[in-house]
Amino acid sequence: MGKPTGFLEIGRRTARTRPVHERTHDWQEIYLLQPADDVQGQGARCMDCGIPFCHQGCPLGNLIPEWNDLVYAGRWQQAFQRLASTNNFPELTGRLCPAPCEGSCVLGIADDPVAIKDVEVAIVERAFAEGWIVPRPPAVRTGRRVAVVGSGPAGLAAADQLNRAGHQVTVFERADRIGGLLRYGIPEFKLEKGILDRRLALLEAEGIVFRPGVDIGIDMSVGDLRRSFQAIVLCAGAEQPRDLHVPGRELDGIHFAVDYLTRQNRLCAGDVLPAEGDISAAGKRVVILGGGDTGADCLGTAHRQGARSVHQLELMGQPPATRGPGNPWPEWPRVFRTSAAHHEGGERWFSVVTEGFLSNGSGRVSALQGVPVEHTHGRDALSGHPQESFVLPADLVLLAMGFTGPRPTPLLAELNLRMTERGTVWRDAAWMTSEPGVFTAGDMQRGQSLIVWAMADGRSAARAVAGWLMTQSDLRAATARREV
Ligand SMILES: Cc1cc2nc3c(=O)[nH]c(=O)nc-3n(C[C@H](O)[C@H](O)[C@H](O)COP(=O)(O)OP(=O)(O)OC[C@H]3O[C@@H](n4cnc5c(N)ncnc54)[C@H](O)[C@@H]3O)c2cc1C
Ligand code: SF4
Repeated sequence: MGKPTGFLEIGRRTARTRPVHERTHDWQEIYLLQPADDVQGQGARCMDCGIPFCHQGCPLGNLIPEWNDLVYAGRWQQAFQRLASTNNFPELTGRLCPAPCEGSCVLGIADDPVAIKDVEVAIVERAFAEGWIVPRPPAVRTGRRVAVVGSGPAGLAAADQLNRAGHQVTVFERADRIGGLLRYGIPEFKLEKGILDRRLALLEAEGIVFRPGVDIGIDMSVGDLRRSFQAIVLCAGAEQPRDLHVPGRELDGIHFAVDYLTRQNRLCAGDVLPAEGDISAAGKRVVILGGGDTGADCLGTAHRQGARSVHQLELMGQPPATRGPGNPWPEWPRVFRTSAAHHEGGERWFSVVTEGFLSNGSGRVSALQGVPVEHTHGRDALSGHPQESFVLPADLVLLAMGFTGPRPTPLLAELNLRMTERGTVWRDAAWMTSEPGVFTAGDMQRGQSLIVWAMADGRSAARAVAGWLMTQSDLRAATARREV
C-alpha cells in the first residue's frame, strides 16, 4: 500500500481552480493540474483495501490501489501502464467523470475519500509530457473490417479496442467533427478540445479511419455498410432531449441546452456562424430548467457570454448535505453538489414546477411562470402551492432536462431494430442488436449516462464483436473446408 499511516496524516486535496474573475472571461479549462507532491500525497492516503470497493464503483474496473501505490512510490510510468490497461482515455475520465470510484472508496466511510480522479489525470498528463504515449499500430491485421457509427466516447473506445485487436476500423460521424458530446456538448471550460484532438491524432496514426460528415441512414445506407464491413457497432447516443409541454413553449428564446452548448463550442472552434439562430446569453436574463450537469454547463456558458442574470430551476427537492439513511456507502452518494460553474454566480431554485412561459407580445419569451412544490410521497408525488405562484423574467430559457433516448432517425428506421420499453436500442448479452452482426454500445442502449459508462460499454462491445468475428471466420473456414 501507499503509506501505512498516510490516511491518518494527509487530508484529501483536490485540484485547484483558476480564480472566478479570471476564468469567466475566457473558455480555458477551470481546473489546474495538481503539483506532483499533492498527487503523491493522495496516493499515500490509499489503504490498498483487501476488497477495494473503488474497483466496484468504477465501471472500467480501473486498478486504482495499484496506481495509487505506484504514484506514491514515484513510479509514474508503471502507474500509467496500469491505468492504460483498463482505460482508453484517462485524460477524459480524469477531467470529466463524477468519479463513482470516490463514492465507494472505503476511506469515505470515516473520512474524505482518496482524490482518485486527480491522481488519474495527473498520471496520464505526466505520460503525455514524458512522451510515453506514442502511436502503437497493431503488428498484424486480421483482414476484418468493422464500421462504428457515432464518434462519442462509446464509439471511440470500441474503435480503439477493435483496432488494437488488428481489425480495420472506420468511424462514421454525422457531425462535421469527431467526438460526439465530448466535442459539441461538453463546454471548452470543462474539456479543452485540444485534449480530444491530441487523442484523435493518436488513434488516426494507429490506423483508425474517421469519416466525419456522414449520416448513416441518409448519406450512406446500412445496406451499403453491410457490403463493405463484416460488423457494425452503433454508438449513436441518446440524442432526443426531454421537452416541456406547457403553454408558451413555442415562443422564441426557448432552446434545448445541447443546441445552445453546441453553438458555443462551434464558436470556440473558430466557426463563423450566421447571426440568425444566435442563442447567445449576452445581456440576457437566463433561466435554465434542469438542475443537473448539463444545466451547470449552460450556467458556466451563460456567465462567460455575459448574461445579466442566471437562474437554474430544478423540479426535485434540494438533496441532503450528507448521505441519507436510504443511501448507504458504497452507493453513489445522492448529496447536494456544487460544481465549479455554481461558484461563478447565479441562483439555484429547487422544488419548482414550470407552469408556462409568458410572451413579450412579439412572440418572444419574457418570463417563466412557476409554482413551488412539495414532494409528498417520493419522487413523483407533487403538491403545489398555487398561492405562491411566481413570475420570473426571462429573455432566454434553456431546457436541460435530460434525454429520453435515441432520436428516431432514418438509421433506426432502416434497421427497424427491437427497442426496449425505455426507448433505448435493445441488445442481447453479447451486445448484439436484433439485427445479426449489428452491435450497440453507449447511451444508445443504456440511455443517457456518463462518459465512463460509454467507454466501458464500448470496450465490452468491442470484445463481443471480436469474438463474433472470430466465430464468423471459423465458420467461413469450416464452410470452405467442407466445400473443398
Ligand atoms: C451537455 C452535456 C454535458 C455532459 N457532461 C458530462 C460530464 O461532465 N461527465 C460525464 O461523465 N458525462 C457527461 N455527459 C454525458 C456524456 O457526454 C454521454 O453519456 C456520452 O457522451 C455518451 O457517449 P456515446 O458515445 O454513447 O454518445 P454521444 O457522445 O452522444 O455520441 C453519439 C454520436 O453519434 C453520432 N450519430 C448519431 N446518429 C448518427 C448517424 N446516423 N450517423 C453517424 N453518426 C451518428 C452523433 O452525431 C454523435 O456524435 C454530458 C452530456 C451532456 C449532454
Ligand atoms: S477503496 Fe479507497 S482506500 Fe481503498 S483501495 Fe480504493 S482508493 Fe484506496
